[in-house]
Amino acid sequence: MLGAIEAGGTKFVCAVGDHLGNIMDRVTIPTTVPEETMKDVIAFFKKYPVEAIGIGSFGPIDVNLESPTYGYITSTPKTAWKNYPLVQTIKDVFSVPVGFNTDVNAAALGEATLGAAKGLDSCLYMTVGTGIGAGAIVQGNLLQGLSHPEMGHILVRRHPDDSYKGKCPYHHDCFEGLAAGPAIEERWGDKGANLADRDEVWDLEAYYIAQALMQYILILSPKKMILGGGVMHQEQIFPLIYKHLTAMVNEYVVLPELSEYIVLPGLGDNAGITGSLLLAHQALQQ
Ligand code: ADP
Ligand code: ZN
Repeated sequence: MLGAIEAGGTKFVCAVGDHLGNIMDRVTIPTTVPEETMKDVIAFFKKYPVEAIGIGSFGPIDVNLESPTYGYITSTPKTAWKNYPLVQTIKDVFSVPVGFNTDVNAAALGEATLGAAKGLDSCLYMTVGTGIGAGAIVQGNLLQGLSHPEMGHILVRRHPDDSYKGKCPYHHDCFEGLAAGPAIEERWGDKGANLADRDEVWDLEAYYIAQALMQYILILSPKKMILGGGVMHQEQIFPLIYKHLTAMVNEYVVLPELSEYIVLPGLGDNAGITGSLLLAHQALQQ
């Protein structure tokens, strides 16, 4: 039996299950302060004989095994969680192997193993929600270098008609600053879910998403790109993304049929938690 934690900025999802993605029990815990949230997380796993625990976390996080702060949440704007030793807190209670990666890298692993990219040795998973992040599998491995990628904060070319200042506290008008859920809400004065019939909203959103995807294609050449998160519930955006991407790439790179190449998660909203079970499985095998 494996344990999984999908640690998010608004909620922690904890589950127990197996490496085939079968989930036997799960609980959702609000993200408040570490002492409170982690007490409930620990209480959940105490009920089960878990052999390993996988954590897919919001970040930035320290994933460098050599680092003295490995397993920490590092520079998050959620101040109570800044410099918080997430992995160590779990290890102090459960003496089992712990796998640790970003939430989006976990989701990429889930989708590559059991979801829309099953059987492929590369894929990219992007979430467009409260923030934007992406994880990737490259040549069969989760992408990691100096640290984990932070693909939501790339710089994009601003649309000539868009004068919105941008919402990223670090870079203002980076991709996340212009296109995450809170940016949509501030620019248009209403939540994305209430703007479904405003074509210009989704055309502009698709314009920014297509730019980001073009850069991911040019740099990583993933075999499949999977788009999740709350904003992607606006499924009418997919054809608009295909339209903008086709124009931007301008036949320079030969791409598969876009409706099969850029898709919703095969695991739906379970991509992250399933990937976290797989992180636990990897930790057990190592
Ligand atoms: P989180 O990123 O916090 O894990 P979500 O992926 O649900 O959670 O993202 C929340 C963001 O997505 C909010 O900014 C919200 O307004 C936006 N959002 C949620 N549902 C929809 C929807 N159906 N259409 C457009 N935007 C949505
Ligand atoms: Zn940014």
